[in-house]
Amino acid sequence: LVVLDDVQKWFGELHVLQDINLTIKRGEVVVVIGPSGSGKSTLCRTINRLEPVDAGTISLDGKELPEEGKALARLRAEVGMVFQGFNLFAHKTILQNVTLGPIQVLGQDKATANERARSLLTRVGIAEQADKYPAQLSGGQQQRVAIARALAMDPKVMLFDEPTSALDPEMIKEVLDVMVDLAQQGMTMVVVTHEMGFARTAGDRVVFMADGRIAEENTPTEFFTNPQSDRAKDFLGKIL
Ligand code: ATP
Ligand code: MG
Repeated sequence: LVVLDDVQKWFGELHVLQDINLTIKRGEVVVVIGPSGSGKSTLCRTINRLEPVDAGTISLDGKELPEEGKALARLRAEVGMVFQGFNLFAHKTILQNVTLGPIQVLGQDKATANERARSLLTRVGIAEQADKYPAQLSGGQQQRVAIARALAMDPKVMLFDEPTSALDPEMIKEVLDVMVDLAQQGMTMVVVTHEMGFARTAGDRVVFMADGRIAEENTPTEFFTNPQSDRAKDFLGKIL
């Protein structure tokens, strides 16, 4: 569904993504882990062209991502993204946060968008918060709104960049539960996370990044029990 072919990216002198070849199949959950600065966030951002690449190609559902313009906006709408910070619009209600994209980008009428938004808020367990403002919600609730907002665009793939790392421990589980649920329902997902429990239970594949390269790629069980590279062993030794 998503194919990265020999992707290269530089930030000035820094070769932040090197020779990235990665194919994400429909319905697959790929967990990306690796040390700080290894390029995980940059990888996510290139997949929906928040960051341009310098060489190589990225395609979504067989179509190469265009550089800019309307075609890019349309393709980007097919990639949902959830970040560490919740990035909700502070002056809009929860319901409005979820309906804005469908109304403005997909051209849905308000009634349709509202109905769909309420069902998504129910799915992420916060239907009763629909008319509140983001600041009135806990971090875990806000992150679930961010997930509902991304899902409202009917994305083909969802990217998560450390979605729980800004949350208090007791809120992490409620967000991970929503993500596990999504994975079980067949959503294609790329998840940058240090939550090894999630990687083991929901991940189909672990991609380990180091110094801008994919240093290792394996099933979660193999990766965690039998890492191949010294970098991966070293990393796992620090976090497990
Ligand atoms: P973390 O685990 O800390 O989130 P990461 O693996 O997500 O790290 P990236 O955010 O992708 O790492 O950054 C990779 C490298 O690129 C880092 O050295 C970072 O300083 C650098 N970098 C990231 N964004 C930019 C930018 N816009 N301009 C210049 N350098 C950048
Ligand atoms: Mg990052």
